[in-house]
Amino acid sequence: MSKIRGRFAPTPSGLMHVGNAWTALLAWLQTRSQSGQFVLRMEDIDGPRCRPELAAAALADLRWLGLDWDEGPDIGGPYAPYTQSERIRLYEAAMDKLLEHGALYPCFCSRAELLAVASAPHGLSSEGPTYAGTCRHLSPEQQRIRSAVKTPSMRFKADDSASIRFEDGISGSQVFPPGAGGDFVVRRADGIISYQLAVVIDDAAMKITDVLRGADLLDSTPRQLLLYEALGLPAPRFAHVPLLMGEDGKRLAKRHGDTSLAGLRAAGVTPERIIGWLAYLAGQLNRFEPLTAAELISHFKPHLIPKEPITIHDSLMKQLYN
Ligand code: GLU
Repeated sequence: MSKIRGRFAPTPSGLMHVGNAWTALLAWLQTRSQSGQFVLRMEDIDGPRCRPELAAAALADLRWLGLDWDEGPDIGGPYAPYTQSERIRLYEAAMDKLLEHGALYPCFCSRAELLAVASAPHGLSSEGPTYAGTCRHLSPEQQRIRSAVKTPSMRFKADDSASIRFEDGISGSQVFPPGAGGDFVVRRADGIISYQLAVVIDDAAMKITDVLRGADLLDSTPRQLLLYEALGLPAPRFAHVPLLMGEDGKRLAKRHGDTSLAGLRAAGVTPERIIGWLAYLAGQLNRFEPLTAAELISHFKPHLIPKEPITIHDSLMKQLYN
């Protein structure tokens, strides 16, 4: 049997925090416990918030935690480059292919129009309301006239004939209704390639077999599956781990205090404490105890990972420190 290939794909738009460490550790354990290869990819194309120094800090933080990778931006590998901003050519080639297949169309809608005509209030929540399809049926002539005054975004025609199904490694069987979330943007009007397209091209090109990531991306998966299909690429297996939440029911973030790895390090918290704490949250330990990431590999049991979001109460947060 060929080896599994997993990955962690951070967006360097902020400092790594315990929520990122949680996903990174679980993806790494999933791969290492099966003697697989682990890939690190920097997803830095989403605009000006991404900064090279944050990318460098992310790699340093992950190494400090005791994680390692076989391929990545700092060490290269057979599918280099591992930084999305250096891979634009590949995304444009995929755009050409999709265009040739008639899978895309230009969309001229403004942000205000999109909100006004949203066809369903409950789209795939991670990307806002469902697109009503306003520009899907413009004639070539109408497209030409509008292109003269406005650069369009490009949308992928979501297949609205069949449900999308997949088996999630954590949440089990998933079914999304036909056309779930509507036609979605693959290239923005400002030329930026969307996360959905870039991630599919990269996971396929880097031969990733197993994607483990946060549950916030669960509802991106149907879109990505449509892209795999349209491009004739094999899809990986997916597992979406629950998010770490603050006591207010919101995703753990800056407002809940400094949960950045840099902040914890500065406060004297050791990587072993962070790893042990995360492993405890992941159901891998009966009680909190410091240990290294490597020590967890042979004990990793994915079925013990909770399925529901995990609330980090203040008392739990304090355990990290003393
Ligand atoms: N770059 C994405 C993020 O940091 C993760 C993408 C993925 O794992 O598919 O949220």
